[in-house]
Amino acid sequence: MACSSVARMKLRFFVYPSMPGGTDQTLRPFLWRAANLYPDTEIVSRTHQGIDRYTYADYDDRTAQLANALDEHGIVEGDRVATFCWNHHRHFETYFAVPTIGAQLHTINPLLPDEHIQYIVDNAEDQLIFVDPSLEPKLASAAADAPEFEGVDFVIMGDAEGEHLDATPYESFIDGQPTDYDWPVLDEDQPAGMCYTSGTTGNPKGVEYTHKMLWSHTMATLTPQGIPMDDDDVVMPVVPMFHVNAWGMPFTATAGGAKHVYPGPSPDPADIAGLIEDEGVTITAGVPTVWLGLMDYMEDHDVDLSTLDRVIVGGSAAPEAMIRWFDDHDVELLHAWGMTEMSPIGSVAHLKHDIAGADYDTQIDHRSKQGLMVPGLEFRVIDDDGEEVAWNGEDFGELWVRGPWVTTEYFMRPEATEEDFEDGWLKTGDVVTVDEEGYIKIVDREKDVIKSGGEWISSVELENAIMAHDDVAEAAVVGVPHEKWQERPVAFVVPGEGADEDALREGIMDMLREDYPKWWLPDSIEYIDEIPKTATGKFSKKDIRDEYSDQSLVEGSVPEEAAPESDD
Ligand code: ADP
Repeated sequence: MACSSVARMKLRFFVYPSMPGGTDQTLRPFLWRAANLYPDTEIVSRTHQGIDRYTYADYDDRTAQLANALDEHGIVEGDRVATFCWNHHRHFETYFAVPTIGAQLHTINPLLPDEHIQYIVDNAEDQLIFVDPSLEPKLASAAADAPEFEGVDFVIMGDAEGEHLDATPYESFIDGQPTDYDWPVLDEDQPAGMCYTSGTTGNPKGVEYTHKMLWSHTMATLTPQGIPMDDDDVVMPVVPMFHVNAWGMPFTATAGGAKHVYPGPSPDPADIAGLIEDEGVTITAGVPTVWLGLMDYMEDHDVDLSTLDRVIVGGSAAPEAMIRWFDDHDVELLHAWGMTEMSPIGSVAHLKHDIAGADYDTQIDHRSKQGLMVPGLEFRVIDDDGEEVAWNGEDFGELWVRGPWVTTEYFMRPEATEEDFEDGWLKTGDVVTVDEEGYIKIVDREKDVIKSGGEWISSVELENAIMAHDDVAEAAVVGVPHEKWQERPVAFVVPGEGADEDALREGIMDMLREDYPKWWLPDSIEYIDEIPKTATGKFSKKDIRDEYSDQSLVEGSVPEEAAPESDD
């Protein structure tokens, strides 16, 4: 092993260009470090065929082969190359090969509707798309007769030909290519990646990630205040690699020299549990629904979580009960907040040292907030009058952020850029409070906060309170237009199986009355079969609002005493 590493070091030093002035902040050195210092560390993937396993040394060789194949295909610096894939080693190979030859990796979310896929392929001017066999029918449907796909080539991830698209098998695409590549010296401001927000309002908006953004995001997340990863870690991103680079974890894990585990196509709780046990996963990450699935599965199945140190939860708020559940299983749930526009990590709910020594409930209270900004970022919270709100844990305002890995514009969307950015700050659209310690807590999205009689009502708080009822499966609260109060809250509830609807309505209202002022109480509770979801699995309140923007739901049903002014 030692011998092969030395040989590898020499070889790599030899082909790496010598740069007297040093290099810019680019991605290549992260892979260089992993390949040379940890050549035998594994990269493991769950595939349709079973488990695939190789080392950083193999990864380095295959990445060079892919880079050569891209050259041969005619991809040049500045071109965009897209992926339409789940989490696996081949997808990971594109993560370093594409940006380090100077091209740009555009990860497409395959759960988007066809029109959005057509829009973003056209907007990004993708030249080549890597697609998974199981996602090929979906891509073929979006590409069928679509002028947006003219001139786009396809490579299918695996060793078989495409069935629906004229696509080259990946293994023949890279086969026979040299395992070395004369990597160019790149400018840190050169775009390396690209991802579109899921477009809950209108067309998706593109965010370009430069090398410097991804480099600085990686370095910041490696700090103890971020999501650090080391060479004894086994890192499994369940969060999709098509969603903001799986929160940057493939880059961070490589920089730290950790073992990678990729859960492959549509992993279910049994797959996730199996990989944790078999591969000894220490750090994993995903949205709350993934962990709710695992918690549910573990009610009937024994799963050994003893290797697991940390579960990173973000994308939506981590419920307090989930934090406690993982504590009971000796696993730390680390709550994080971020956005596509922020590459994506913004804050992580680590405990400050004085709070770490406080009682358990105080700790849980802080760990369920979205947390403290990671080093390198600045934020402010601005109210309706354009003033910064006090850090008192009560006053709401919109969260603005800036920093090296926060974008300052949308790709070719000047009007959206104008709307969401000001003086170098990203206006996140998240409505938050900040407590005396500096922990931010999201109380709503700007577009979802309910503006009733000049006061704000947090739809998220009401939803969480309603979902705490045992007979509620899901709930979303939206503001419905109201003549007098501007907007009033209406709750859309999916009842649990066998629930008595009248009793449930009363039960919910009784629960809410205990904790909230009268004017916060929903004017109506409507039962529906399912809460519509976005392509990233979040509640789509826009769809609910579009469908139920009907005043009759609330007209005349607001008792005078429920008015904001009359509540004391
Ligand atoms: P989209 O949902 O448009 O695809 P993102 O994935 O970038 O976009 O989502 C970013 C948004 O997700 C944030 O602005 C915030 O509203 C929400 N979000 C992210 N993390 C959390 C969290 N830990 N708690 C609550 N909301 C979160």
